[in-house]
This record gives sequence, C-alpha cells and structure tokens, in this order.
Amino acid sequence: MIEENLKSLLERIEKSCVRSKRKKEEIQIIAVTKRVPLQRMVEAIECGLKNFGESQVQEAKEKFESLQSSYPFLKWHMVGHLQTNKVNRAVEIFDAIQSVDSFKCMQAIDRRASQLGKVQGCLLEIKVSEEPTKFGLREDEVQKILDESSSLKHIYLKGFMCIAPYFDDPNKAKPYFSKTYDLFNRFFLKSSLKIDEPVLSMGMSHDFEAAIEEGSNMIRIGTALFGERY
Ligand SMILES: *Cc1c(COP(=O)(O)O)cnc(C)c1O
Repeated sequence: MIEENLKSLLERIEKSCVRSKRKKEEIQIIAVTKRVPLQRMVEAIECGLKNFGESQVQEAKEKFESLQSSYPFLKWHMVGHLQTNKVNRAVEIFDAIQSVDSFKCMQAIDRRASQLGKVQGCLLEIKVSEEPTKFGLREDEVQKILDESSSLKHIYLKGFMCIAPYFDDPNKAKPYFSKTYDLFNRFFLKSSLKIDEPVLSMGMSHDFEAAIEEGSNMIRIGTALFGERY
C-alpha cells in the first residue's frame, strides 16, 4: 500500500512541477511517521524512503533506537514544536530540527551540539498565520535571529519551514506559501550564511501541490503515504 501511495505521490509531485516549470528532482520528500508503527516505517524504507519526520522527541527516540543499527543511512527530521527541556535528546537523534522559533532555543541546541561534537542542521519555523495554535517567527523577528545565529558555531541553518492553515480548498493556502517564499528570498538567501542546498520546507499531504507551485523544495508527507493516523 505504501508503494502505491508513493507512486501516486510522485506522479502528483511531477504534475505540480510541470505546472510550475520546476524540476521534480528539486523536491525532497520527508515521510512523516508520527504514530506510524515501526513495521510500516520498514515498509517505507524498503520503498526507498530515507528522510523521516517525527513530531515528538520520545517517539522518535524509540524508533531511532530500533532502526539505527539496521538503517544507519536514514535522516531524521524533527517537525513538531520543540520544548526546551527536550532539546538535549533531540540533538542526539535528529539530523535536522525544522521547528526552531527562538534564539533561546537555538542557543540550547548549540550548547548540546557542542557537547556532542556535532553541527546541528536546523530550519527556522515561520509563523504565517495568527492562529494561536501555530508556532514560529514573525517577519519582523527573522533578520535579527539570522544575524544572531552566525555566532553559534554548532548550528547549521539550512532554511525555513512553515505550516499553512488548513483550508478545504488547498489553493487558498497559496498566499501563505508565497509569503514564506518571499521571506526566504529576501532574508535567508540574502543573508551572509553560505548554504549549499537551501531548504524551504512547506506543504503536507493536503496542500503539497500548492506549496510546490509556490516554491517549496521539501514536502512533509504523512497521511498520503501511510493513511489516516489513529
Ligand atoms: C503531521 C505533520 C505533517 C504531515 O501531515 P499529513 O497531513 O499527514 O501529511 C507535516 N508537517 C508537520 C509539522 C506535521 O506535524
């Protein structure tokens, strides 16, 4: 079932790329496996998926410990909100923390990464709507944190992430994606950070096509690969 889901996901990605005159190779898929059991993750790995997203540190840690020795090539992405008291364990597991939303959080990550002799990949989460349940940085906070981040030697800031509000018609999410794309261009790509492959992580099962058409190069897909979560 994952194999078929992946096939149709790839076809839809390709169509969005054709519509927006982009290359499908530019789009990375993060398979979001929160509340997805190990067995199905293994199935996904056998289909060739390597990038996994989790939203809770404890769940990720358990899965990481079960899979790491057999599949050391996997990349783990933290996509959920990161509480300060979970930073230490998060840095032990994740290749990328996509939900950095304050300098305080970044400093805590830097401190732990330094202890572990690691440079931690991170994305800044951008708050695109006023919904109280959403986290992230506002436009007027972005420049400051980019400047501050350059002093942290154990942080590798690779780009931005956003979560658009839900609309029945996913095309309605486009203004939120294009806003983030604009901030990514104006602030991240213009900053002094030297990044080989800048990441703009936008789009989930419901709205990834709209996100790709507005410039996303990393989509985070759960339901469309694994089915509904319970
Ligand atoms: C759960 C989650 C996803 C995947 O959601 P689906 O709608 O199942 O594709 C993507 N990003 C974040 C931040 C999530 O928490």
